[in-house]
Parts: sequence; structure tokens; C-alpha cells
Amino acid sequence: MHDILPEQTVIWQHIEQAARDLFRAYGYEEIRMPLVEKTDLFKRSIGEVTDIVEKEMYIFEDRNGDSLSLRPEGTASCVRAGIEHGLLHNQIQRLWYNGPMFRHERPQRGRYRQFHQIGVETFGMTGAEIEFELISMCARLWQALGLKEVRLELNTLGHTEERKAYRQLLVDYFSQHTDLLDEDSARRLHSNPLRILDSKNPGMQALIEAAPRLMDQIGDDSREHFLRLCALLDQAGIAYHVNTRLVRGLDYYSHTVFEWITESLGAQGTICAGGRYDSLVEMMGGKATYAAGFALGMERLAEMLVEEQAEMPDNAAHAYLVMVGDAASLQGMVLAEQCRHHLPGLRLISNCGGGSFKAQFKRADRSGAQLALLIGDDELASGTVGVKYLRADTEQAEVKQEKLAEFLDQQFGLTGQNISGTV
Ligand code: ATP
Ligand code: MG
Repeated sequence: MHDILPEQTVIWQHIEQAARDLFRAYGYEEIRMPLVEKTDLFKRSIGEVTDIVEKEMYIFEDRNGDSLSLRPEGTASCVRAGIEHGLLHNQIQRLWYNGPMFRHERPQRGRYRQFHQIGVETFGMTGAEIEFELISMCARLWQALGLKEVRLELNTLGHTEERKAYRQLLVDYFSQHTDLLDEDSARRLHSNPLRILDSKNPGMQALIEAAPRLMDQIGDDSREHFLRLCALLDQAGIAYHVNTRLVRGLDYYSHTVFEWITESLGAQGTICAGGRYDSLVEMMGGKATYAAGFALGMERLAEMLVEEQAEMPDNAAHAYLVMVGDAASLQGMVLAEQCRHHLPGLRLISNCGGGSFKAQFKRADRSGAQLALLIGDDELASGTVGVKYLRADTEQAEVKQEKLAEFLDQQFGLTGQNISGTV
């Protein structure tokens, strides 16, 4: 589990801001769920024989002897909350959330035990339009963040009955080749055979390649749903690749599943994954409700922004206020407050904790600020502020204290409105 340091939170906030703006634009509302749920919730929704439930959950007993778990993902909690608060039955919902998830995995690049997801869940909508909306929203987010090296993989799992029939077909097929199965796959043969398709073991690839394809087994309705989504994506110019082996690790998907994958992160290249899960709400005790969603991994996305050297908003201070002497400090602190009052977008650091001119200038420089503002004995006497440009060759200047806010506004284009005489 990691600390996220200021150097990184800049990137995180940038992603979060872009996502928030986008979700609002599409009519999505935020929901916040607890980090802890009854263990049973995840067993029932994610499935007993998934990696998550079998070996990745943080499970503990609370003081009442109830078995609780740190949430390994958000969908189960979101559905639980939706049922509990009557948000789902006969309603349309577009929801999103953001927060930490916990899985006891082997830590490595892009894989952590506490990681963070931004998730989106929608309820009450049949038809491929909502899947198209979810995918477009992702595409627009990558665009907003300036990410280019990301591709979309798509598959359909059909509906539950079709998947069941296919499952048997797979069991029969792999049972004829048990000598070629690795340990993981042999274990999954009867518990979760679809997951064998997901195996990364190079030695298994030929066997998997020759396995029957779910795509060839689904009925007309399922095929139409999938083709409709493909048509929408084609129309909108969103490129995709149909990957018939994409099955996703969770049990609750049906019809569409998709992943956004990048090559710029090494082995853990999936930055976002989702799909339709029409059977989950009913499975968890609610009335049958259409549902679709996705979750993106914040750590992987943040790393990708660094890898691709995406443009980042400039959060460095505009100015650093240097004040030497008690009287100068008194006047300067008040002046700084006045500037902040008039210029809400101003990023101004006041020197606190004293120090010589030299020491304070050093701090000003290290802060990344564009300007050092200076008040010493001379400026105190003349009612001025010295202005030193820290990142440009511009000559040092002097500004009347009552004109400082106006000056900063002009320098940094903070309000665009005429504020003269307001200080
Ligand atoms: P993977 O195949 O990489 O294990 P998953 O199928 O378990 O992924 P999901 O449960 O679908 O992943 O979660 C959605 C996204 O959350 C992933 O695509 C990934 O970006 C991120 N994610 C999942 N597990 C981790 C983790 N342990 N550390 C960091 N990010 C993760
Ligand atoms: Mg996983």
C-alpha cells in the first residue's frame, strides 16, 4: 500500500477533475459507498470461484463476530446501496464513484494492495446505446487527458443461458486435453472454465486458440445487440478490436465486455474495464434491472500520463511574498490577505517562519513561483512592494502596495475584470 505524495497528487487531481467534468456533462451523479461491507456481499456478487474472492480479499471479523471485507471493487457496493435505498427499481440511474479498493495481490508495477478506481455504473437501460455511451465517455476522457496510446478491446459473452451452454462446451473441449492444462487451468476446469481463456501462460496459447468461441455460440438477439454496439462505434469513429477471448475476471457480466489497454505500462496494461451485468441486481436480491458500467485504475492511468508526458495543469505558485522585519511582516501578511480576497484564482505563498532575505529568496525559488514579492524597511517606508522575476529576464520592478492586486491580476490574467481602486 502506498502513500501518494504531492508530486503525484497533482496528476491525480488532474485526472479526477477531468473525469468529474465529463461525468457531469453526460448527466452522471456521484455516489459514495463505505469501504467495508459484509464479506457475503462480495462472495455472492463477484462469485466464489474468482481470484478476488478465492485469494485476494482482506477479510476480518468485527467485534460482533460478523465477517467483513475491505471492498475489492465498487460494483457490488453500488448495487447493494442502490437496492437498499430504492434507487434501482423502475428507474434510470447514471452513477459514478471514486475511491480506494483493496486486494491482497502480489505487488508489482501497476498492481497494488490498495489501489484506486473511478467507477461508473448505470441502471435501467437496455440496448447497446448505453454501452456506447460508456465507451465514448472513456474515449473522451483519454482525449481530455491527452492520452493516445490506448486501444479498445471488445467482446460479447451473450446472455446467461448461452454462456452456460458454452461453458459445457469448453469443459468438454479442455477435458480432452487435460495433459496440456497448467495447474491454474486444471483447477478452473470445473469451477470457472471461461477463465482458462484468460490465461497468460504461453504454453497454453495454442490450446486456447483452438477452443470453441463463444461468439459462434450466441443467439440472434445477443448477436444483434453486439452488432448494434459495433455499428454505433463505427459511426462515431471509435476504433476497436473484437477479442473473442476477452472474458473478464468477474462472474456477473453478460453481453458486452470491454477493456482499454495500453502498451506503455508493461505487463499491467489494462487501464479500464467494464461491461454489461444485467443479472447482478436480481442475484443480489433486487428486482431484475438492466445494468452496465466500467472502472478505471487510477494508479495505472496516472503512470500513463507520466509515461506519455501528457500536459499537466500548472499548479506552481504565481508569487512568493518575502518579508523581512516585524513591521514588514505585519503589513505584508495583511496585504497578502487583501490580494487573495480580490483574486480568488491567485496562488500566493506568504513567507512564514522568518529568515534573512537570502534564505527567503531561496524558498521563493524552490516554491516554483514566477515572482518574488518583497517588503523590507525601504518598501515599508515608501508603501511599495519590490517585484523580482524569478523565471524571466524582466528587470526588477516596484509597485504601490494598493496597486498590488491589480498588478498581479494583469500579470497572470486572473479575473479579466477591472478591479482598480478595490484594495
Ligand atoms: P487485472 O487483470 O489487471 O488483474 P482486473 O480484471 O482484476 O485487472 P478489474 O477488477 O476489472 O481488474 O478492475 C478495473 C481496473 O482496476 C483494472 O483494469 C486496473 O486498471 C485496475 N486494477 C485492478 N486491480 C488492480 C491492482 N491490484 N492495482 C492497481 N490497479 C488495479
Ligand atoms: Mg485482477
